[in-house]
Amino acid sequence: MNKESYEAVIGLEVHAQLLTKTKAYSSDIAEYGGDPNTHVSVVTLGHPGTLPVFNKRTAELAITMGLATHCKIREHNLFARKNYFYADLPKGYQITQDQTPICTEGYVEIGESRKEKRIGITRIHMEEDAGKSIHELDPYFTLIDLNRAGTPLIEIVSEPDLRSGEEAYEYLTEIRKLVRYLAICDGNMEEGSLRCDANISVRKKGASEFGVKVEVKNMNSIRNVKRAIDHEIERQIAAIENGETISQETRSFDAAAGTTFSMRSKEAAHDYRYFPEPDLPPLRIHAAMVEEIRSGMPALPKELQKRYEQELGLSTYDAALLTAEKSVVTYFEALIQHTTRYKAAANWILGPVREWLNAGARDMDDFPVAPAQLAALLALIDEGKLSFSAAAQQLLPVWVEEPDTAPDALAQKLNLIQETDEAFIEQLVDEALKAFPDKVAEYRNGKKGLIGLFMGEVMKRSKGKADPKVATALLQKKLEA
Ligand code: ADP
Ligand code: MG
Repeated sequence: MNKESYEAVIGLEVHAQLLTKTKAYSSDIAEYGGDPNTHVSVVTLGHPGTLPVFNKRTAELAITMGLATHCKIREHNLFARKNYFYADLPKGYQITQDQTPICTEGYVEIGESRKEKRIGITRIHMEEDAGKSIHELDPYFTLIDLNRAGTPLIEIVSEPDLRSGEEAYEYLTEIRKLVRYLAICDGNMEEGSLRCDANISVRKKGASEFGVKVEVKNMNSIRNVKRAIDHEIERQIAAIENGETISQETRSFDAAAGTTFSMRSKEAAHDYRYFPEPDLPPLRIHAAMVEEIRSGMPALPKELQKRYEQELGLSTYDAALLTAEKSVVTYFEALIQHTTRYKAAANWILGPVREWLNAGARDMDDFPVAPAQLAALLALIDEGKLSFSAAAQQLLPVWVEEPDTAPDALAQKLNLIQETDEAFIEQLVDEALKAFPDKVAEYRNGKKGLIGLFMGEVMKRSKGKADPKVATALLQKKLEA
């Protein structure tokens, strides 16, 4: 089989549950969880005569995502009914947007900052979720929880611009980063608040037409989306090489086996009979509203990443890590208000602080030391009053228990302050050199590695307190003399 002569074409459809307080068209609570069927007013239950009322926050969050992905925002929006019968859909239809998605023609950048690729966003539209059918709790019955029915979603549809499972992984990671960063959605794929369907086809390299696509559902992690795509590409190529034709169908991912299986063919696909929703008036988005949302948005991760690389001189890797989460950005931004030691600031956040967070499964918001105080610690280390390792290993664990103590006071208390007094260190250096005259001669004959031995001596004589920078400089000066 000649895999190399094929190219994969992939487009993703991502559903994100919006972090609104109430549902899309009623005042029911939109929270995840809660006892089954407790967030269900007559509107959610689809009782005859009840009317939907549009939740403005849904549009605000959809527009936020649209702006973050460089989309055009539509002024005149219509709602549409998507009709189908299912037990977890009491109304018999979902209110969605069909011909007039609120956001169109955007893009998301993937890849490392200098070799970026743009993945087109075809559309983002608003819709409501259905309830939840629970098949595994009872041996005879399917149980239905309508708490989720009517909660607001956005669906983000990409252009067929992705070419591999790896690119899909990057794209989805970027989407999740954005929705979390902007508090649009909690981005939890295991709980299903972020869901992804993958459309996959293959074609001969150089072909101008796309192949027939297959839609794969039921991947509950970004990694599984990649696995499903990788498998599907192989399966389709093997089928074509076998002389079979790919038929348009919907398949489901089996995470245990790492394979996909057919759910329904195109012939069995739904016909939703979309028509304009008669119970809701058209929605007009004023330019002023868009501008208000735009001006209230924080700098986006990609922009910050570029700024950290170009203006603060951080590596691409560090800049990407620092901008992965909103809470980290907030802290780092506050920290660099108090220090210009940018590299050291990044090292602290990505090193000792992150280790402390990880050890307790904590979030950056849980870090109790104020940014100004951490900046003061960086200064102490820079001045040689405290070594990095003493600060990270001995001071930090105590500091998080009493974060209001100033770092110099705490370092004093813990007896970690280094001796920087040159005269004092010079005396120790002289003693060390005098104790090993033969080693001094060897050093001068070219055995430069012996500097470690003298450093050890100076450290011992200072009881570990000598500032290594000062000691090294003095040793070198005297040995080279
Ligand atoms: P449908 O009408 O089946 O919903 P759409 O044209 O709306 O199809 O596309 C749905 C998704 O499938 C989009 O993300 C799009 O980029 C992707 N897609 C469309 N055609 C192909 C193809 N031939 N191969 C892979 N993905 C495709
Ligand atoms: Mg479609």
